[in-house]
Amino acid sequence: MKPQWRKYLAVRAPRYTSFPSALHFDEQVTAADYAARLRDIALYEPLSIYVHVPFCKQLCWYCGCNMRVENDYGRALRYVEAAARELRLVGEALAGAGRPLSVHFGGGTPNYLKVEEIAALLCAIEEGLGLTDSTRLGIELDPRLIGENDVSRLAMLGFSRMSLGVQDFDPDVQDAINRIQSFDLVESAVAEMRRVGVGDISFDLVYGLPRQTAMSFADTIEKTIALSPDRVAVFGYAHVPALLSRQRLIDEAALPTPALRADLAELADAALVGAGYRRVGFDHYSKPANALARADIEGRLRRNFQGFTDDLAATTIGVGASAISHVEGLYAQNAKNLRDYYRAIDGGRLATARGVELSPRERLIGCAIQDLLCRSRADISGLLARLSPQEASAVCRRLDILEADGVIEWRDDIVTLADEARPLARIVAMALDPYENRAPAGSPQPFARAI
Ligand code: SF4
Repeated sequence: MKPQWRKYLAVRAPRYTSFPSALHFDEQVTAADYAARLRDIALYEPLSIYVHVPFCKQLCWYCGCNMRVENDYGRALRYVEAAARELRLVGEALAGAGRPLSVHFGGGTPNYLKVEEIAALLCAIEEGLGLTDSTRLGIELDPRLIGENDVSRLAMLGFSRMSLGVQDFDPDVQDAINRIQSFDLVESAVAEMRRVGVGDISFDLVYGLPRQTAMSFADTIEKTIALSPDRVAVFGYAHVPALLSRQRLIDEAALPTPALRADLAELADAALVGAGYRRVGFDHYSKPANALARADIEGRLRRNFQGFTDDLAATTIGVGASAISHVEGLYAQNAKNLRDYYRAIDGGRLATARGVELSPRERLIGCAIQDLLCRSRADISGLLARLSPQEASAVCRRLDILEADGVIEWRDDIVTLADEARPLARIVAMALDPYENRAPAGSPQPFARAI
């Protein structure tokens, strides 16, 4: 990384899996708004279905997800019942409209649920929204909870994409984050997936974890390459103990410095690209024949709540506590708290608790950010025309700084991200984002403060 880019490593930019990020949602969006938007969905509109399973067996100290450790499986059964009821409510609002292109189970830990319960949820999707032979099914799996025959039974249900939470193979790092899982466990899960014909296996890795060193992470990457997943996501750990009390269990003194974090990301990038993976977006890698790489090559890459995706559906239906739906400019997030979620669903109502309705200018900003993150290039002329003169000149100032540092090129309102600056893509997106650059009067703006 160029020396003048190091200062950007301290900037805490949103992940931009939505614009604006969920932190900016408020309670003005209601279940009635979401239901009305569902009723407007066209007959054959492609849908992406996301089912959130918030339970885990054990707490990983770095976790940033909406989850709870649950030891009573009866509570999971109660949840499955409520999620199935939510799917019926969504189905009633859709009244036969929409066609699910994909279904993704995320969490938490989807395989906290037994295969029977996952099958029951698929049946509820089938009854409420319909499934076709071409609907693609994907699921995130915790290798520690994969039981005998689980993988083959999931494959028989139609799951063709399986994602394993690996994070790091080093036992010392695993100890520091309270997530112990051996290499053998992951290796046998992958072997079973291959044996039953799962064609799309992905790994999630994390850099920036306590006790990681260049040598330990290089070893993790080497082991990853040896197992040959079809895709790899390499996420940076965000340490925010003030927001997530569980992260206070992490020994801050053992966290890598910003410079080492950058080195870890770079060494992962070099090793994966050297092994034949294609860079996709700023943190995904894909074998060239995989659907994600093909979407990238063909300019169809998109970013949604699951990260970079080849999913064509612009509409997401989120099911379960805290799940976020996105329907035609409306983000609607379900209640995070299980009690509130159950109260709404048991009362026959959708469980929307927060959200945001995008204005025309917010749609333009969102499109520019999506183009920048997915295609490394964005036309910002429409966006600049919609901003107030003060906002537009603030965006231009931020882009000038980035251009002077060689992060972007900026000509005729086309912003192009330098290829080697991909890890800074979210910083450039932040420069276009008025939400992230609001500051109380008299204080410097966050972007300027950070650099
Ligand atoms: S398994 Fe995943 S969701 Fe559960 S605590 Fe660990 S990181 Fe968080």
